[in-house]
Amino acid sequence: MNTNRNGAYVGSATDVVERSCDHCDWHAVDDSYPALIKRYQNHLRADHPRVWLRR
Ligand SMILES: [Zn+2]
Repeated sequence: MNTNRNGAYVGSATDVVERSCDHCDWHAVDDSYPALIKRYQNHLRADHPRVWLRR
């Protein structure tokens, strides 16, 4: 789950949440889950409209 790369911590010390797209290699990190979901939904609507419409 955690990606530790040369001092760049993701998801351990802070409440950082991560989301990657099921349909491409889009990936986002945010500090709150609702904000991240919103970004993911914006991404789906913009880049995968057919997937978005099927939800
Ligand atoms: Zn995508």
